[in-house]
Amino acid sequence: MSDPDTVLVTGAAGFIGSHLCEALLARGQRVMALDNLSTGDIGHLDRLLGHRGFTFTRRDVGAEPTPDMTQAGRIYNLACPASPPHYQKSPVDTVLSSVLGAWRLLELAGVSRARLLHTSTSEVYGDPEVHPQHENYWGHVNPNGARSCYDEGKRCAEAMLMAYRQQRAVDACMVRIFNTYGPRLSPGDGRVVSNFIVQALQGEDLTVYGDGHQTRSFCYVSDTLHALLLMMDSGETGPVNVGNPGEHTMLELAELVLRLTGSRSRLVFRPLPQDDPRRRCPEISRAKALLGWQPEVALEDGLQRTIHHFRGVLGVRRVTVA
Ligand code: NAD
Ligand code: UDP
Repeated sequence: MSDPDTVLVTGAAGFIGSHLCEALLARGQRVMALDNLSTGDIGHLDRLLGHRGFTFTRRDVGAEPTPDMTQAGRIYNLACPASPPHYQKSPVDTVLSSVLGAWRLLELAGVSRARLLHTSTSEVYGDPEVHPQHENYWGHVNPNGARSCYDEGKRCAEAMLMAYRQQRAVDACMVRIFNTYGPRLSPGDGRVVSNFIVQALQGEDLTVYGDGHQTRSFCYVSDTLHALLLMMDSGETGPVNVGNPGEHTMLELAELVLRLTGSRSRLVFRPLPQDDPRRRCPEISRAKALLGWQPEVALEDGLQRTIHHFRGVLGVRRVTVA
């Protein structure tokens, strides 16, 4: 019989996963952490490795689960590269992480009767034609473009999750996370918040893709984490959007980072990547109604904390952004 206080976290050495492991241990839960370290950093887990309630296994989420994983009464599935340059570099691994990973964990949850929380993404809405994006919107995704390994992989995982709920009564739920940022973003992984901060702090030009008028909505990691914990504790199925409805252009973000870092870097314009969504903003009434959740951290505060973190990282090494 699985134990609800034993929690399997896949993608545990990543940005959000490592914060999640800490939060679960702080709640007194036992954490079985799994990661293949493709984009994660084992250094994020250094402080946890000596903890009695914590174990780490280097393993692919698509591999057959080991018998000890049936002990976990709760499973958080975060294993998947999330930065566009990373997931586009290994599209096969990306699609398999989502699809095989979801399949393995749904099978596992079926056997162990665990509750599974799958982290889906705002990318299931693609380049949206509806604004802001409500969970009922089906999306506008290119099925065979540069981003499809990620977008369609996540969409297939959602479909599989619903199929296992319907046919096998597996207790699985999902959240759709919108751009999350904060300390432990990998400084070189190419996402816009880390790129701009690293460039500003190193005195390099900030690379704005396209004309910079495309928008994103940035959610601080502690807010995203809080929503994941509430969703797991709820009996909800989802999908539930998890994001901050404050919408900003990339030009606004760049100017804000320059102001907060005091940097004299300039902006340079680079070609917009293929299929880059033009607008993105979550509609979060479902999260408010079902989970009593809404984000608390304002963009400026979250960026200050993230800049503080990056000053520490860059104090010891120089970083080249992707
Ligand atoms: P991240 O790249 O920092 O972390 C992902 C982790 O998964 C890494 O540690 C990586 O090594 C691991 N991983 C990748 N493929 C794996 C595999 N096949 N087997 C085992 N481990 C594997 O990314 P993140 O920002 O922490 O994102 C975590 C999850 O949240 C991802 O599933 C991502 O799709 C989802 N998400 C994140 C955001 C965001 O803005 N950060 C937005 C939407 C969805
Ligand atoms: N972006 C940018 N400069 C960079 C990195 C990204 O202007 O150095 C843009 C990118 O084109 C996109 C937005 O910032 O429009 C968010 O990119 P990110 O990769 O962080 O996330 P995603 O596109 O997956 O939302």
